[in-house]
Amino acid sequence: MIQVYKFGGASVKDANGIKNIINIITKAKSKLVVVVSAMGKTTNAFESLLDAFFSENTEEVNKILQTIYDKHNHIITELFGEKDPFIYDFNQCFNTLRQRLEKRPSLNYDFEYDQIVSFGEIFSTKIVSAYANLIAVENTWVDVREVLKTDENYRDAGVNWNLTSEFMKAQFSFNTTSVYFTQGFIGSTINNISTTLGREGSDYTGAVIAHILNANALTIWKDVPGVLNADPRWYEKAVLLPEISYSEAIELSYYGAQVIHPKTLKPLQNKSIPLYVRSFIDSDKEGSVIQNSEVNTTNLPVFILKKNQIFITVSPKDFSFILEDNLSDIFHIFSEHKVKINLMQNSALNFSVCVNEGRTITALLEALSADFIVRYNTGVELLTIRSYNDEVIEELTFGKEIIDSQLSRKTARFVIKELN
Ligand code: ASP
Ligand code: MG
Repeated sequence: MIQVYKFGGASVKDANGIKNIINIITKAKSKLVVVVSAMGKTTNAFESLLDAFFSENTEEVNKILQTIYDKHNHIITELFGEKDPFIYDFNQCFNTLRQRLEKRPSLNYDFEYDQIVSFGEIFSTKIVSAYANLIAVENTWVDVREVLKTDENYRDAGVNWNLTSEFMKAQFSFNTTSVYFTQGFIGSTINNISTTLGREGSDYTGAVIAHILNANALTIWKDVPGVLNADPRWYEKAVLLPEISYSEAIELSYYGAQVIHPKTLKPLQNKSIPLYVRSFIDSDKEGSVIQNSEVNTTNLPVFILKKNQIFITVSPKDFSFILEDNLSDIFHIFSEHKVKINLMQNSALNFSVCVNEGRTITALLEALSADFIVRYNTGVELLTIRSYNDEVIEELTFGKEIIDSQLSRKTARFVIKELN
């Protein structure tokens, strides 16, 4: 039996976190590939580092670099004491990063991003693997970039399944070990240049490995008890969904549920590999399972709230109707500005969409205004309710102005705004 475990940044944010995940690993009664993210908010820190690097602000680069070093070093001394040879190893690896930042950046931001940000996962996995070995949990550390091959689409690289499959099967043979530690989120081109798979991409790496090794299951260990029917940060009465079908989970992540990275589910579904979502804090609890099932065991309503939305309505200036030719012009403008449409609705004279607020919106509105009358509402929220009923609609829209709504058999969606 082979299982793949994935631990996110929150699970390894300090020395106790690392001890906890190793404890979880020792309880697994199977061969394991363990995917570990960068520690805590390291990837965010690396993004700030990159901004400083690109604006050639040496002082800021050094300051952020020092903070990243201190965070890791603090955890290392807590785990290994002050004299362990691992510290030398780690410092050497950190110096490779320092040296990289001493050169001037190339003009390709996405390329530089991947070369620098990938250090976050290398650091975390080196630390976790060395500490596990220190306390006699024998394991092998694998640089995933040697086996996960991608195209050259930096920051959003696509997996080369043929090569990856060949290399992974050879690497994760379990001939000499029963536990491998490796990185999520990163990979490399056929020329061994580092790439990344997109923010929060470690779940996807877990799924790629599980698919290729025909694993019995992938478990994603999180700081929540499993998949809940709403985000507990805005809905106090959120409850656990014990079992969800792949297709329902894909729908949920499409509507914006953030528990699972959307790309994660397909590689698992294709081989019917169950995905467990469990809490690393309460690791005895079962959590949720996403797997093949005809019916959803629960018909509990599920709520997804996307905040910071803009609701835009366009109508033709020339009194024409909203028809195919107009629509294709409109879509073209959205795709040119890389603005993703979260909801759309049309009538004879109006076409409305809900989109995330962001950098390119002003330019988008300007481009639309050339041919259309454009009206918009900022600061709105997009609420999606799966398996809705009248009571939950009433409860969740109470005290809100409903700007637009869309009902299908299974899904109710509302563009809402606080009443003031
Ligand atoms: N460390 C990366 C990120 O924070 C990848 C991941 O954690 O999934 O986006
Ligand atoms: Mg993460």
